[in-house]
Amino acid sequence: MNPIIIVGSGLSGYTLAREFRKIDKETPLRIITADDGRVYSKPMLSNALSNGRTPDQLATADATQMAAQLNAVIQTHSWVNAIDTARHIISVDGQELEYAKLVLALGAEVIKPALKGDAADAVMSVNDLGDYTRFRAVITDAKHVAIIGAGLIGCEFANDLRSAGIAVDVISTGNAPLNRLLPEAAGHALQRGLAHIGVNWHIDKAVTAVDHRGAQGYRLTLSDGSSVEADAVLSCVGLRPRTALASAAGIHTARGIAVDRFLATSAPDVYAMGDCAEVEGLVLFYVMPLMNAARALAKTLAGAPTPVGYPPMPVVVKTPAHPVVVSPPSPGVMGAWKIEVLEAGVRALFFDADNKLRGFALTGTAVSEKNALVKELPALL
Ligand SMILES: Cc1cc2nc3c(=O)[nH]c(=O)nc-3n(C[C@H](O)[C@H](O)[C@H](O)COP(=O)(O)OP(=O)(O)OC[C@H]3O[C@@H](n4cnc5c(N)ncnc54)[C@H](O)[C@@H]3O)c2cc1C
Repeated sequence: MNPIIIVGSGLSGYTLAREFRKIDKETPLRIITADDGRVYSKPMLSNALSNGRTPDQLATADATQMAAQLNAVIQTHSWVNAIDTARHIISVDGQELEYAKLVLALGAEVIKPALKGDAADAVMSVNDLGDYTRFRAVITDAKHVAIIGAGLIGCEFANDLRSAGIAVDVISTGNAPLNRLLPEAAGHALQRGLAHIGVNWHIDKAVTAVDHRGAQGYRLTLSDGSSVEADAVLSCVGLRPRTALASAAGIHTARGIAVDRFLATSAPDVYAMGDCAEVEGLVLFYVMPLMNAARALAKTLAGAPTPVGYPPMPVVVKTPAHPVVVSPPSPGVMGAWKIEVLEAGVRALFFDADNKLRGFALTGTAVSEKNALVKELPALL
């Protein structure tokens, strides 16, 4: 009997395998992963320093333990390079494997900023435990880190590094931090909160070049001609779903690997979920959507086709210097933000044309209103 093959051992791949084994203990299951197959919670990478956790302490089980736990074959350090959807075969580092059903849980890849300078290659990014292990080694003796980008990951690392006593400069092209998620007033409240713990902001500026500074450290040149010096540079400018493997196989991709509510791609018996997938037009790089997807897909794979549903899924930004929680309105919903700046936070509510609440962004003391507001929001999907 050909196995169900899951490609990827991130939160998506392992959550799906766990959910599947709750219902089906026997069907052969194989997980193929480019990394070492250790289990870790990716969100913990951006607050591990202040929580006093080393990279190794973030891993809770290795591939051998997971194989036993899941009654699965786990193939680590292996790249799936091609899918033959007609023959139900994948090619893994040159070896051909047949699948009964295939799940792509490939994650997203980091977008690299276009930078000039003789040290552009030294700019780091953190998107998995391996990256984080290298980053922590580099910052062991660092007194000063420059962060490019002020999205969720950039702001969380800024808070974490600063809490550990490291000087932090953040350079961002937007008008305010988290500008793709929050209305500007809420972004500015976060900016002030992080400035209060000592984060230096360079807002509305781009980094154009990174050069070596003598024998140690780096000099960043910004678009206004100013410069920032640092011992390490972390780029957090964004992610894009890993679609190349699917599109090379003729599977329909848009921003992500396009799937319907059953997580089914355009190819028979091939599914996609997590950061690589675009579910009915939604690409969501968060844990809650993938948990919902894993529960539904596990049932589908076990023979009971089940569509995924997305309830409201607020995102908690891990910036204790100024807490933020946001449930952005769905793309395409017409409406307007109603914003109140409070003494120690911001309450921003997004209402549609019928005056129905469709999203919110809360900062500072206002985050306590999250649970009450979630009850008023409609489901996303
Ligand atoms: C620093 C950081 C903090 C975050 N904080 C939060 C948070 O607070 N809250 C929240 O909701 N979300 C957060 N996120 C997002 C969340 O962690 C991700 O949405 C989630 O972990 C994605 O899991 P995934 O399994 O889809 O992808 P990944 O974890 O990227 O896993 C992809 C897997 O696919 C494998 N792979 C890829 N291509 C191949 C191939 N061709 N062959 C074999 N294997 C392959 C990789 O090796 C890997 O095992 C954060 C993300 C980061 C980076």
